[in-house]
Amino acid sequence: MIKVKNLTKTYVGTKALDNISFSLNDGDILGFLGPNGAGKSTTMNIITGYLSADSGTVEIDGTDILEDPTAVKRKIGYLPEIPPLYNDMTVQGYLEFMFKLKKVRLPMKEHIAKICNMVKITGVSGRIIKHLSKGYRQRVGLAQALLGEPPVLILDEPTVGLDPQQIIEIRKLIRDIGKKRTVILSSHLLSEIQAVCDKIIIINKGKIITSGLTDELTATGKSTARMELVIEGRPQQVYSMLERIDGITKVIEHGECEKGCYEYVIESGRDVRRLVFRAFAKTDYNILSMKPVSVSLEDTYLDIISGKTEGVKDNVSDI
Ligand code: ADP
Ligand code: MG
Repeated sequence: MIKVKNLTKTYVGTKALDNISFSLNDGDILGFLGPNGAGKSTTMNIITGYLSADSGTVEIDGTDILEDPTAVKRKIGYLPEIPPLYNDMTVQGYLEFMFKLKKVRLPMKEHIAKICNMVKITGVSGRIIKHLSKGYRQRVGLAQALLGEPPVLILDEPTVGLDPQQIIEIRKLIRDIGKKRTVILSSHLLSEIQAVCDKIIIINKGKIITSGLTDELTATGKSTARMELVIEGRPQQVYSMLERIDGITKVIEHGECEKGCYEYVIESGRDVRRLVFRAFAKTDYNILSMKPVSVSLEDTYLDIISGKTEGVKDNVSDI
């Protein structure tokens, strides 16, 4: 449904996007996760045709946005970071205005009534927008994005500035709306993306860092990439033996945990349990315990935010 290839964008002095590629199938709900300044809004503005890229292409349903911008825009409902609301209009007046602006070819009153019902703003449709709460204004923004029944929805940080109850409601709404549509939602909150999306792309400094199915990325938390070991014997020797094992990238000694036994944490690019076992079986040093430590998506994301991880993966995502 959506194919993004090699997007690059430089603002004066800032490389905002550096070779971003990914594709989405019909019905996917993708979470675009990254700290402030990562490039989320820039990517969304390019996909929706509001900003042009320096290079790269965007295809929606097989059509390049540059080839037929009008037709492509018709397929996309967009809720930008700052919703384009006219504060002095009533909700109904605003939606009718946007309906005409978008040249939607459906029976107007019925279509707007249906959308208002879907996002639960029927009760406030006669109210002036500026008198609504932030949560309701966000719903009106969503209603605007849904005009014309676009198969693709792009929502830029839709819960920013809402209170916890409103956040829960908007997330539920997005999940419901997303059942029949392809959705890209951006957020700087991992918990939000995990709650709403079935696929995740983590982006930082204009590059894709990680991508995959939410379930799978969350499950990598149970991998053997980090392990806690308790080994009996002289720590200097044990430490250097561990360091020499193929695949182990980091060894930390955490001190004596019982007499003559020391605790270690090791990090590795793959499962090294068997190698560790064999290496020590030949010696007088005894492994008393070997336990994988959970490396959660939360840790990965925190590492990214704190700058410990940078563009580690080739920048292509095929989820
Ligand atoms: P995000 O939405 O993830 O917070 P943005 O896409 O807004 O990130 O920004 C990506 C980078 O591009 C940031 O470094 C930001 O400062 C820069 N940027 C965004 N918009 C502009 C602009 N209009 N002019 C100059 N730099 C910009
Ligand atoms: Mg943004």
